[in-house]
Amino acid sequence: MMGPSHALSGAAVWLAGSWALDQFADYQQSPLALAVGTAVCAGGALFPDLDLSGKVTRNQGGATVARTFGVFSLFVAEVMEKISLGVYYATKLSKDPRRNNGHRTLTHTIPFTLLVGWGTTALCAAYGKWAVITILFFMFGLALRGLFDGWAERAGWVIVTLASAGAAWFTFVNLPGGRGYPLIGTAVGVGCFVHILGDMITRAGVPILWPIPIRRRMWTMIGLPNSIALRTGSKTEVVVLRAVLTVIAVLSTAGLIAPSVLQRFNIDV
Ligand SMILES: [Zn+2]
Repeated sequence: MMGPSHALSGAAVWLAGSWALDQFADYQQSPLALAVGTAVCAGGALFPDLDLSGKVTRNQGGATVARTFGVFSLFVAEVMEKISLGVYYATKLSKDPRRNNGHRTLTHTIPFTLLVGWGTTALCAAYGKWAVITILFFMFGLALRGLFDGWAERAGWVIVTLASAGAAWFTFVNLPGGRGYPLIGTAVGVGCFVHILGDMITRAGVPILWPIPIRRRMWTMIGLPNSIALRTGSKTEVVVLRAVLTVIAVLSTAGLIAPSVLQRFNIDV
């Protein structure tokens, strides 16, 4: 799947989940908490593809996510790709094929998702203010890059960086700490998981069962069979899938804000 579809799926899942929690568990969120969770989940849904390295010195290549902060994120992608490949070789069994890059390995596993979600919460709790601002800054950058791909491409990474920094600061000043920190960690983790599910409906698949060994393979790729798998960049993805995700996001948002709007105008339903 392409970057923008991943980001959109993260946002749609977070909004739909928030609506379900509001509806069935009576768990309400402030408009700011909802917006932050949605943006962070959209950013988190791009995060796993930070394992696709480009050409740092030429400022080229990489996935959508790697271009968010120019050469800086391209460099991080390079490092992440090498670490992933290292983990692949360190844990590979006799039937796992040889690889020359780490894309779609470590960062596309459930243990990684849990580690990122837990790590984010732990960092926010341990270091407070600066950890929260840094993580929000990073995630907002990814969300902008993914959700407003065309704009981000035209505006360039400097503008994206400045916009993310501004939004991160505003959020930090206005978001109450208590519920806020676990919210950020949960949204990043859910985003990563949604990304893995998104890649699962493509042909190449993801090693979602890692580290469970199956027939002398540790990195069994699980994906849909060729005949029904989603082709990256196909009409089904760019038109149909994105339309469905947008409808889910819009309906969930409407469901979440409609009651308070009606209340403001004193309309009883
Ligand atoms: Zn991916």
